[in-house]
Amino acid sequence: MILGQQQAKQRLQRMLQNERLAHAMLFLGPEACGKLAMALDFAQRVLCENKQANEQGEITACGNCRACIKTSKWIHPDVHFSFPTIGTNARSDQFLEHWRVMLNEHQYPTVHEWLQRIGAENKQGNINKEECLNIVRKLSLKTFEGSHKIMIIWMPEYLGKEGNRLLKLIEEPPANTLFILVAENQELILNTILSRCQIVQFHALQDEEIVEGLQQRGIAEATAFSAAQLASGNFNEAMKLAETSENDNATLFLDWMRKCYKGHGVELVKWVEQFAGVGRENQKFFLRYALHFMREYLLLFTTQDATRLRLCKAEKQTAQRFLNIIGFEQVERIVTLLNQLSYHVERNANPKVLFLDASLQMHYFLRKRG
Ligand SMILES: [Zn+2]
Repeated sequence: MILGQQQAKQRLQRMLQNERLAHAMLFLGPEACGKLAMALDFAQRVLCENKQANEQGEITACGNCRACIKTSKWIHPDVHFSFPTIGTNARSDQFLEHWRVMLNEHQYPTVHEWLQRIGAENKQGNINKEECLNIVRKLSLKTFEGSHKIMIIWMPEYLGKEGNRLLKLIEEPPANTLFILVAENQELILNTILSRCQIVQFHALQDEEIVEGLQQRGIAEATAFSAAQLASGNFNEAMKLAETSENDNATLFLDWMRKCYKGHGVELVKWVEQFAGVGRENQKFFLRYALHFMREYLLLFTTQDATRLRLCKAEKQTAQRFLNIIGFEQVERIVTLLNQLSYHVERNANPKVLFLDASLQMHYFLRKRG
């Protein structure tokens, strides 16, 4: 199931219903918002041998025919993939195994994740000359089994100048050939390619759509909700947050703020000892959550309007209570402190020293309302 993106879905649906498929499309939108998932789904619908119309009149793939079975495993001989790789003269085909393993886990990759999976470490990926020649060669063949040949190029930004080798092919593709380019940054794609493609625009996902997607993956609602708040519409980020974050950051933050406000030494030391043990990744997410909360709190403080806040009910109540304690200048100090903490956690500072010091500063800020 593809999350959100109603406009893009409808546009592609119309193409299928009218049997007017654009021979070159560019799916354009922010990172991990579902462009690749949609391209895979579209390929399946095009190639299905037993297409069906659902109750809403939408063309769907049957899921059972020979073509569907192959497209859903990403092994259909008429669906070709091209994506950034590493190594001189490397071709995407050499990395197909990794590609399929990833798609099997999820279809919302980021380039960073992909390059790490294929062992790039600090190397830059690219789609090189060899790969472009391979694309040209593949598309010169007849279709093997399906009605169309479909070439999905993920991240054509990585083509650079080599994109020129594909111009003719994209402008005048062989019969029954569809190009789907899946991109994030229009400015990094040759204008000559852009002008030959129909652009299908995608958007960052809404929080609710992310929550829904995470719940489908078996993540509890509260965790899904807090991951969605921090992910800014990026489903890949949300999955990472939800899987890594073992803590209920909202509760943890409120507890910390209470203890800082009270300023009871023994309690604070105990809290810090415990928190020092949760590990760096969790501390980073906690701080990101805290900054998110303070941003929303500031919005409440300035507008007095709780309806627009990206916080759940319990968090809104906490924010409302803070109105009596935390003023504008204090917000400023707290945010600065949280940013400093993030900086030091990133650089492996001793968490016990760091968070005890921060707790004492926080106590001071909370008690000093102008
Ligand atoms: Zn089918």
